[in-house]
Amino acid sequence: MLRENLYSVEKNIANICNSCNRTRDSITLIAVSKTKPLSDIEELVDIGINEFGENKVQELVDKYETISKPVHWHLIGHLQTNKVKYIVDKVYLIHSVDSLKLANEIQKEAVKKNVNVNILIEVNIANEESKFGVLKDEVIPLLENISVLSNVKVKGLMTVAPFVENEEDNRVHFRNLKQLSLDIISKNIDNINMSILSMGMTNDYRIAIEEGATMIRVGTGIFGSRSYDV
Ligand SMILES: *Cc1c(COP(=O)(O)O)cnc(C)c1O
Repeated sequence: MLRENLYSVEKNIANICNSCNRTRDSITLIAVSKTKPLSDIEELVDIGINEFGENKVQELVDKYETISKPVHWHLIGHLQTNKVKYIVDKVYLIHSVDSLKLANEIQKEAVKKNVNVNILIEVNIANEESKFGVLKDEVIPLLENISVLSNVKVKGLMTVAPFVENEEDNRVHFRNLKQLSLDIISKNIDNINMSILSMGMTNDYRIAIEEGATMIRVGTGIFGSRSYDV
C-alpha cells in the first residue's frame, strides 16, 4: 500500500510540475511519519525516500536511534525550549522556530555540541488565533535578531495553512508566504538564506507547488490515515 500511495503522490507532483513549468527536483517531498511504525519508514527508504517529518521530539529521537539506515529527520511540530538539547545533533532541519527565545536555546545547545543547526521560521500567515508561528509583521525583526547567532542557519520559511474544504482557499496564504520570502531577500540580512519554502500538506500541496513551495510535507497521502490512540 505504501508503495502505491507514494507512486500516486509522485505522479501528482509530476503532473503539477508539468502544468506550472517547474522541475521535479525543485521540490523536496517530506514523508510525514508521525505515529507510524519504523517498518513503514524502512519500507519507504528501500524505495528511495530519504526525508522524514516528525512532530514530536521524543518520537523523532526514538526513531533516530532505532533506524538502521541514514535518513534526514525534519522536526515539523512545535518545539519547546527544554527539548532542544535532545535534537540539535539529530535533526536535519527544524521547521518550527517561532521565537527568539527558542532560537537562542538552539544556539546554546548547538555550540555545546559543536554543530550548526538548519532552521525555518514558522509563520502564522493566515493570522489564526490558535496557531503556532510568528505573525507576518514580526518575521523580519525576528530574523534580524537571529542573524547574529553563529550556529543557527536560517534556510527559509514554513507555514501550516488553515484547514479548508477547498484547497484553492489556501492559495492566497501560500502566495503571501512566498511574497514575504521575497521581501526578506530584498533586505539582504547577513547569515539569512531564503531558499526553502516549506508549505503544502496532503490536502493542498498542489496549490502550494503552484505558488512556489520547495518542500511539501505529506503524511496521510503516503501513509494513510493516522490513528492517535494506538
Ligand atoms: C501532520 C503534519 C503534516 C502532514 O499532514 P497530512 O495532512 O497528513 O499530509 C504536515 N505538516 C505538519 C506540521 C504536520 O503536523
